[in-house]
Amino acid sequence: MSLRDSDASRIQTVATQLEVSPLGSLAMSQTQLPSTTASNLERTNWTEITPQALYDKCMTLARNLWWSWHPEVINLFRDLDPVRWRQLDHSPIALLSEMTPDQVSQRANEMVLYTRINQAHRRLKDYLADERSTWGARNAGVLGSHPVAYFSAEFGIHESAPIYSGGLGVLSGDHIKSASGLGVPLVAIGLFYDQGYFKQHLNSEGLQEEEYLDTKVENLPMEQARCPEGKPITVEVKTRGESIFAKLWKMNVGRISLYLLDCDVEGNSPEDRELTSRLYGGDTRTRIRQELVLGVGGVRALRELGIKPGVYHLNEGHSGFAPLEVIRERMVDDGLVFDEALREVASHTVFTTHTPVPAGHDRFDGKLIEEHLGPLREKLGISYDQLMGLGRVEPQNEGETFCMTVIGLKLSRRANAVSSLHGQVSRRMWAHLWPWRVEEEVPIGHITNGVHIPSWLAYPMHMLYDKYFENDWVKNMGNPDTWQPIFDVDPGELWETHNALKARCIEFVRRRVSRQCRRRNEDESIVEASRNILDPNALTIGFARRFATYKRADLFMQDLDRLAKIVNDENRPVQFIFAGKAHPADEPGKKLIQGIANLRHDPRFAGRVVFVEDYDINVGRHLVQGVDVWLNNPRRPLEASGTSGEKVVLNGGLNFSVLDGWWAEAYNGKNGFAIGHGTSHANVETGDERDGEHLMQVLENEVIPLFYDRDADGLPLGWIEHMANSIATLAARFSAHRMVTDYVEKAYLVAAGGVSSDMSVR
Ligand SMILES: *Cc1c(COP(=O)(O)O)cnc(C)c1O
Repeated sequence: MSLRDSDASRIQTVATQLEVSPLGSLAMSQTQLPSTTASNLERTNWTEITPQALYDKCMTLARNLWWSWHPEVINLFRDLDPVRWRQLDHSPIALLSEMTPDQVSQRANEMVLYTRINQAHRRLKDYLADERSTWGARNAGVLGSHPVAYFSAEFGIHESAPIYSGGLGVLSGDHIKSASGLGVPLVAIGLFYDQGYFKQHLNSEGLQEEEYLDTKVENLPMEQARCPEGKPITVEVKTRGESIFAKLWKMNVGRISLYLLDCDVEGNSPEDRELTSRLYGGDTRTRIRQELVLGVGGVRALRELGIKPGVYHLNEGHSGFAPLEVIRERMVDDGLVFDEALREVASHTVFTTHTPVPAGHDRFDGKLIEEHLGPLREKLGISYDQLMGLGRVEPQNEGETFCMTVIGLKLSRRANAVSSLHGQVSRRMWAHLWPWRVEEEVPIGHITNGVHIPSWLAYPMHMLYDKYFENDWVKNMGNPDTWQPIFDVDPGELWETHNALKARCIEFVRRRVSRQCRRRNEDESIVEASRNILDPNALTIGFARRFATYKRADLFMQDLDRLAKIVNDENRPVQFIFAGKAHPADEPGKKLIQGIANLRHDPRFAGRVVFVEDYDINVGRHLVQGVDVWLNNPRRPLEASGTSGEKVVLNGGLNFSVLDGWWAEAYNGKNGFAIGHGTSHANVETGDERDGEHLMQVLENEVIPLFYDRDADGLPLGWIEHMANSIATLAARFSAHRMVTDYVEKAYLVAAGGVSSDMSVR
């Protein structure tokens, strides 16, 4: 069923998407509902549905995260109670739990929701039943009974399920959502963190403070996973000390099952019960125990579930222990010796590396490795030195620690980086693992990261594409041809749609910033002023990401007088919106945040350079959908790929970025702006100085003039052309549909066949 089938709900959804106040949306939906549709709604015999049945349908929708990338379902939940919806972090289960079936029914009555609930419910049912006509059924059928097992330490699916911290998690979430849409047979394995990542607040000095909240398990769309006989699953992983136990949750993400291991179970020591409470918390011992549970525990869980994967995909090194447990299984099941089993398992394993910085790879010393993998090592019949050798570049080098990326590379026959440039960097970084090869032949290829379009595309843009694109464009969004009709869109219409989204983004930022001021107990006059920050007509630049120092969030601040002139230009004003968290242990990262956040005390920048606290998927979505320009200025080549800029493309924003990661292969001179000339600097300080200077030059000489060059109707035609070029050349190429298709064709299908030559993904 396409979106066109439900005109009534579409019109109403646009109203609610654009409108913040519930009254406004109600008023608009009533005035805009065509009379024919309205009478259709009345004809539906909704009175026959009992409140309980209606409530159950809503709950069914809430219990599959499929809803999170369907705006018409999101709006339906929101319409049940817009205020609580926002307060409850957009969690439909939490919302419904607060309401009785009668209240839901009454509200559905007032808001004419019956048809929409029924339609959404039917769409979900059809979607789950329709496995035969998918791309995956046609192209990845061999994986059918032996699916891909996709391991990742985090999954960013929606803000209401806080089991992610940032880019890696959002990428994994987008990967499995696209696998669901394409119908690729895949199961996902991760960890359940009951406190997730921290909530960020800035104190009155502008310093980041971290708060950890317990997630209410009952508000998440999860249930205990059970083995085929119906027993709830608990896995045990032996160490030299006591065993670690983990129970298993199942979360539904469209057609994909996401299994999450959770160490908060009886039988574990008090410390181990908290092993999986936080992402990237604790010391290296916590870390290796988490990774042991994810890798070895994950493989055990699959076995208990009765799932026999044909491919193991290790997304980053955290799950690098998994193949060891699979090797043990093969030795027992098929009577293979270690070396045979290793070759066999490696041929079915795909490894993706995300880290271009040598220090960013997980490393463990021999003592920790022996404490945690000793029992498994004995079952594998290998010595301590042999095991350590699997995690070392030089197996005999006793000075070398055990590196998770190295074991990932050694136990897989398909390895890839996440952008073309990152591929080059990774081949150089790991060349000494293949000393007999020249660098170009090092078997690490690349598949560039992409984003799940339905999750990041604003609904008004979606509607615009509906109007101009082929009917089935949503099914073909990974195909560049799909997007070419963007050149037929009326420039004024594209511009207006973008500006409506920008207004919504600014409204969101004002609300958040005034809330931040109130939380800090600031003067009522300051709270009041924060409700009017930012100018909806000014060129708006967004920057949101992890505040790691190599990302150089303060690059735009090298010359504050020059910046002040740009920001306060009467005819061509510029404003900045910042967001992002620093790792709790990263003091320099926190200093960066402080420097930017405190610009609000400088009258030249107050209300013009704004920091939004607690960057998460929700904040990210508002920013990528509303800004004119997305700024990214890492130290090249330290950004493996980056994906936030790809989200901006879909919504008509332009990228303004260092030629690093995905942008190095995306920029063509007419689809955005480049900082630097695609070279890396040997000296960090000169590099930063030059890039900062070039950033300002491009801003002054290209970005600002193009944005403010208006025709008689006030349209920036050159800018709008850039928007269309960006959408036409980038949307498909940097979609997760394209990415997952690439993984299937270049990695999964080959690995499923167990071809054991070490061809790389190129
Ligand atoms: C997309 C996204 C990221 C990753 O974006 P980068 O460009 O790699 O920084 C991180 N966090 C959130 C919340 C996101 O939505």
